[in-house]
Amino acid sequence: MHAEIIGIGTEILLGQIVDTNSAYLARGLADLGIEVYYHTIVGDNANRLTQALDLAATRSDLIVMSGGLGPTADDLTKQTVAKFLHTDLIADPLTMTKLDQYYQQSQIEPLPNNQQMAMYLDHSTKLLNDVGYAVGSFYQQTDGPDVLVLPGPPKEMSWMFDHYAIPALKAAYHRDEFLISRVLRFTEIGESELVTKIDDLIANQTNPTVAPYIKPNEVTLRLTAKAANEVIANQLLDALESQIQQRVGAYFYGYGDDNSLPNEVVQKLIKRDISITAAESLTAGLFQSTLATIPGVSAIFPGGFVTYANEAKEQLLAIPTNVIETNGVVSEATAIWMAEQARKQMNTDIAVSFTGAAGPDPLEGQPAGTVWIGLAVKDQPTIAQLFHLPGNRNTVRERSVLRAFNLIRQ
Ligand code: ATP
Ligand code: MG
Repeated sequence: MHAEIIGIGTEILLGQIVDTNSAYLARGLADLGIEVYYHTIVGDNANRLTQALDLAATRSDLIVMSGGLGPTADDLTKQTVAKFLHTDLIADPLTMTKLDQYYQQSQIEPLPNNQQMAMYLDHSTKLLNDVGYAVGSFYQQTDGPDVLVLPGPPKEMSWMFDHYAIPALKAAYHRDEFLISRVLRFTEIGESELVTKIDDLIANQTNPTVAPYIKPNEVTLRLTAKAANEVIANQLLDALESQIQQRVGAYFYGYGDDNSLPNEVVQKLIKRDISITAAESLTAGLFQSTLATIPGVSAIFPGGFVTYANEAKEQLLAIPTNVIETNGVVSEATAIWMAEQARKQMNTDIAVSFTGAAGPDPLEGQPAGTVWIGLAVKDQPTIAQLFHLPGNRNTVRERSVLRAFNLIRQ
């Protein structure tokens, strides 16, 4: 099953808007096990759209179109597709009524073409629009590609795709197949290293399939299984996941598409009612600021310290003067003192501390990227870990924060 996405709109072609619809659709189609081979963008022009459809018909089993379903003169998708498929357009009575009501209530003069919004392809599955007016279509053929017609505005497109198109596609293509995806998230490991460790699993993949993605500071693996029912599909995923976990489980931190390491960690802390604070030197509040992006964190985060200068560390955290003098500011001892004192002063269950050289210049002879992260946990010995982080000043600070979340996770 090979699909092609056609985005319609001169404004996309000219780069005035970014084609986010195709990205959304490609991800959604991948979840259904439908491989997308081509993305095409075409302007609001009936001839060129017809050419794009003719070409797509030679190489794709499913054509997914978005845009040009509105009432204005440049919206020609429906007429063009109807001609291409040699079928008619018919009106959806419910949408006609909705449009009439809208024009009566708003007292706006209806555009001459506004019934066009209510039209869909004859002999197709009609896809209603609960967040707008333009009706979509899913047209199936036996001797040519199937065609899915969706509106352009991203809110309407995604609503229609999720609520109406996906069920229609599933009914058409997965009569007795269940498809489930599971996303595994890894951190502290690069994509190539991860892929090397499981390359035989990836190479031999048929069902489930394994697809790696790189995201900032992490790698995800999407496992997708096909089976007659959900239980069997999940069993297939469990079996593959356990093989993967055996090899790279040390880097695994959570499931799901829309997660992040900080979110995963904070949700766990909230659930277990573990309070946290921080004393930050080179990150100067970035860790605490990241905590604050997560809703509900106030239950476990009372506040903390930004102690940039040595004097601030000594005064705010009550670290004895000789600690920094003797060991240096970028040191295990300073990191440990910072974490311990922060935890005591805020009376929390855990505290993290950051001290290091963000760069570009070395600090006290320590090269840029040298970072000590301390972790104080109630009733446990305080530890500090040394990192040599690559990147410029800001990347070093961001990476330090992620390393800390990773330390807490363990
Ligand atoms: P309308 O009824 O609003 O005219 P339509 O179905 O005719 O809807 P278009 O006119 O093609 O859709 O696009 C409407 C708006 O939706 C565009 O101006 C743009 O902001 C957005 N849009 C359209 N296509 C895309 C796309 N591929 N990616 C992101 N946004 C898009
Ligand atoms: Mg339009």
